[in-house]
Amino acid sequence: MVISMEVVLRNLTKRFPSRDRKNHEDVIAVNDFNFEIPDGKLIGLLGPSGCGKSTTLNLISGLQKPTSGRIFFGEDDVTELPPENRGIGLVFQNYALYPHLTVKQNILFPLENLKGKDKLTKAEMLDKAMEAAKLVQIDELMDRKPKELSGGQQQRVAIARALVKMPKVLLLDEPLSNLDARLRLQTREEIRRIQRETKITTIFVTHDQEEAMSISDMIVVMKEGIVQQIGKPQEVYDSPANLFVAKFLGTPPVNVFEGQVKGGRLLIGEEDVMEAGEVPDQEVYVGIRPEGFRLQEDGEFSCKLNRVEVMGRDISMVSENKASLNSTIRAIIGTENEINMDQYKENTSVRFHLLPHKVFLFHKETEERIYFGER
Ligand code: ADP
Ligand code: MG
Repeated sequence: MVISMEVVLRNLTKRFPSRDRKNHEDVIAVNDFNFEIPDGKLIGLLGPSGCGKSTTLNLISGLQKPTSGRIFFGEDDVTELPPENRGIGLVFQNYALYPHLTVKQNILFPLENLKGKDKLTKAEMLDKAMEAAKLVQIDELMDRKPKELSGGQQQRVAIARALVKMPKVLLLDEPLSNLDARLRLQTREEIRRIQRETKITTIFVTHDQEEAMSISDMIVVMKEGIVQQIGKPQEVYDSPANLFVAKFLGTPPVNVFEGQVKGGRLLIGEEDVMEAGEVPDQEVYVGIRPEGFRLQEDGEFSCKLNRVEVMGRDISMVSENKASLNSTIRAIIGTENEINMDQYKENTSVRFHLLPHKVFLFHKETEERIYFGER
């Protein structure tokens, strides 16, 4: 049985002294992080390299001490506890297995160090090691050495080793980055399954938005140490809080344009594309998801077509527009409607209707979302 835990981060901050001789300002790797990570959920901590993901995880694990702020596991303030007393399991990108030990010995290792009332008999330890190995499906490989395993198998051993003490919280730092594309896909589904089966509160760090979106109950998007948005993956995708989040989530990425609001209408370039509700007159950034375009002869938005890419399920129309901040605009048109693509020639004008719920406005200076229309 697993006793999983809610994890509460309160005003969590970590500063590192500057190592740069020209710039003496401290690096604030984690800046006032507040979040109640719900019990038994899988949370994806997502952001570009250097945004403070690993530091956040290291603070939760106790490998690093916060500059300020508190960490709670359930009711317990664990801020001052050393890592070994927090009841956590850790998995890193480089599997960090002991090369001279077998798989079985690697998995047993955390159990052999238990002291006092937690001490187990040899038979109990072997039972637990076998249980963890079965969970990650490496129970056939117990007598091999790490170098006799593939990368994916090594990472499973590392996960089994993190699970063998049945941690209250499982912390994974870019655990799939060293795996090739196919294994990455397979292993991430495995991690999801294991998390569902064990219900251990899990924090999964990645810079890969697709990875985070696909397996997380909730995602936390970070930038430069600051949390940008927290929510269910689909909610964050459908309603990004700012331009950074809009651009970070989604492949192909959101298309960004210079626009303006004038008399309650949204203009992109010269074209009046839609109603902008109560938004006051101002210049804005306009983000349009690739699936927000509908081919329509009398559509309100026109672009110069570069090429049409037919990719099985979808058709991508790649085009240009003077107001676009991306070099090209990518519109995804589903193949469910029969469209005769022969009529769309390169370097001709193509017109789109824009779906309002796929169009986001952002403040020109702050890049914060400006909400308009229905919410
Ligand atoms: P991520 O895991 O998201 O790539 P990190 O948490 O590793 O980011 O780093 C966040 C920021 O803190 C970066 O600017 C990094 O250079 C800095 N940093 C991390 N660890 C240290 C350290 N031990 N000393 C100084 N700066 C650090
Ligand atoms: Mg990192």
